[in-house]
Amino acid sequence: MKPLASDVRQRLITWSPSVTLVPTRHCFNACDYCGFRLPLTAAARDWLSDEQALHLLQSRPWSSEVLLLSGEVAPGSTSRGAWLTRLLVLSRLALRAGRLPHTNAGPLSRHEMATLGRLNPSMGLMLEGLGPAHDAAHRHAPSKALAVRLAQLEQAGRLGIPFTTGLLLGLGESRQQRREALEVLALLQRQWGHLQEVILQPWRPGGGAAMPLNRDERADLLETIAEARVLLPPEVHLQLPPNLWPLEHLCEALEAGIDDLGGIDSSDVINPDHQQPGPDQLRQVLAADGWMLQPRLCVHEAWIPRLPAGLRRSVERLSHRLVTAD
Ligand code: SF4
Repeated sequence: MKPLASDVRQRLITWSPSVTLVPTRHCFNACDYCGFRLPLTAAARDWLSDEQALHLLQSRPWSSEVLLLSGEVAPGSTSRGAWLTRLLVLSRLALRAGRLPHTNAGPLSRHEMATLGRLNPSMGLMLEGLGPAHDAAHRHAPSKALAVRLAQLEQAGRLGIPFTTGLLLGLGESRQQRREALEVLALLQRQWGHLQEVILQPWRPGGGAAMPLNRDERADLLETIAEARVLLPPEVHLQLPPNLWPLEHLCEALEAGIDDLGGIDSSDVINPDHQQPGPDQLRQVLAADGWMLQPRLCVHEAWIPRLPAGLRRSVERLSHRLVTAD
């Protein structure tokens, strides 16, 4: 039987055509699981240049989102100002190139976040998770303290910035701790209404230990996805990075509640050992189970009216490009 129009609408899964710019891999934190970080040394001044950024943008002409994903400079460091300036310059460069920046660069002061928020239609910061396993993995990462993360999410809410957050799942946290983290995010959303997406990110080791999720791990995560769908308000999209879930089982996660695959570039700079499926491959896999893949901007449609007028115009100018990307 042919599906009804309403059924087709319900089986949409979105993604954001994206290019990732890394202003720096140097980071003053040292999370146990990180394969991205370079230690911050006094000599570290290797900011991504404008020329390098433009080259990357030109190499991904289909991308509408520019993900600015950066290692962090400690608050109070003499390099902090130069680092923030680089983020602002790259955000402007993205806008001038007709793309939309989305910055995820760790905790920011109110002034830093507000300044970046005038150029970024959306921004992001993972909550990560709570409980002793997360505390242990982040014992050398002051930015990852739960109180710091919660204060950031609240600050973004007060500033009205459409925001992406998420949980890193599988570090050893209990089901109860996952539930508590989801309840905290639900409360924040009810208070501020700014959480457009929650990423449910399976932790996967890299290098020689890089393995796809097995059946038991998937079953565990599927319960958390379903629970997230119940606990979080319905307007909050649930996101899963498609390279961290076996492609042949991806539709299980969609059936459980995932409705967004996030920003997709040709590779994943955080998990480079987990190959990024391309949109054509995804479209084919999903169509076999009756799902339609649809491109979106970094800011979801329902949050666009909240943007300042200048940014709203940039977003509206870009909307038509999604049709081309599709
Ligand atoms: S904050 Fe991010 S870049 Fe820095 S060590 Fe932790 S995971 Fe790596």
